[in-house]
Amino acid sequence: MDYEIAIIGAGPSGCAAGIYAGRGGAHAVVYDKGMGGGLAINSPRIENYPGFLSVGGMELMEKMKEHASQYAEMKLFEEVKDIKIDEEIEVITDRGKYSVKAVIICTGTQPRKLNVKGEEKFTGRGVSYCATCDGFFFKGKKVAVVGGGNSAIIEAIYLSNIGADVSVIHRRDELRAEKIIEKEAREKGINFVWNSVVDEIFGNEKVEGIKIRDVKTNELKEMSIDGIFVSIGEEPNNGIAKKIGLALDEHGFIKADDMGRTNIDRIFAAGDITGGVRQIVVAVSQGAKAAISAMKAIGKRSIWDL
Ligand code: NAP
Repeated sequence: MDYEIAIIGAGPSGCAAGIYAGRGGAHAVVYDKGMGGGLAINSPRIENYPGFLSVGGMELMEKMKEHASQYAEMKLFEEVKDIKIDEEIEVITDRGKYSVKAVIICTGTQPRKLNVKGEEKFTGRGVSYCATCDGFFFKGKKVAVVGGGNSAIIEAIYLSNIGADVSVIHRRDELRAEKIIEKEAREKGINFVWNSVVDEIFGNEKVEGIKIRDVKTNELKEMSIDGIFVSIGEEPNNGIAKKIGLALDEHGFIKADDMGRTNIDRIFAAGDITGGVRQIVVAVSQGAKAAISAMKAIGKRSIWDL
């Protein structure tokens, strides 16, 4: 037995699961195909995670990873490719094979794509999914942010603060973002293009403009921009879940109960991959609960064994 509990994904839920599993006395490992931290690292600032009035996503997640590393082995840049479930569970990564007793899937989500002409061609050349990562290059430039959720509006404010000239393009005439965030965006003088979708991104070597369609009139117009930040929600990273036959909901999120239990024994899930309210504060609590369930499943008593 290499580890008792394997956790896949080092975002908020995976880090919390590592902390709870390790502190509960389980020999735990956390894998992440990248640097870890989940999508939260893309957030320029987080203002609703208790204990932090305002904190950058990267800073918060560095702290969480550091915390988790005190209790679980962190295997970053190691991708889990498959899981074989038998008497023992085998976790197969791009570096090796590990036998474990239980698995917690915390693979989160990835940015949804617009799927329009030019998007793939100009990714990294004016098309971005992360204002914190790429915003700096657009100081004094004209950019569009697509989306009307919290992420889009926070990114628009961030880009405006950097000194970019920002237009938010949203498919409806009201935002999904929290009112307090919307108020700040309006005070910043951010331009809103309502009832509109992006039909095409064009340019030569890099992005030079977009074609925008008014969804009510079907009227097409061009907007000259230097960059476009796509922030239209997320898709579940459910590759492993599908491979092992976990039950998914109609949007592809793992079906898990309140304690992170799935339809397969010894396999648990937590965080954004389980859908619902996708907030860091929710993900960490789910990670803790899934770790408690996993410990129970492998016969480790915990003080929460009610
Ligand atoms: P979201 O809340 O799902 O919003 C996605 C936005 O993109 C919506 O406005 C949606 O329009 C639009 N959209 C979706 N598909 C589209 C398409 N194909 N073309 C054009 N527009 C499209 O996603 P999010 O903003 O990334 O946030 C994800 C989760 O993280 C949410 O739970 C959010 O509250 C949370 N979050 C929280 C914070 C924070 O509190 N600090 C920061 C960031 C994110 P409709 O409105 O018309 O559906």
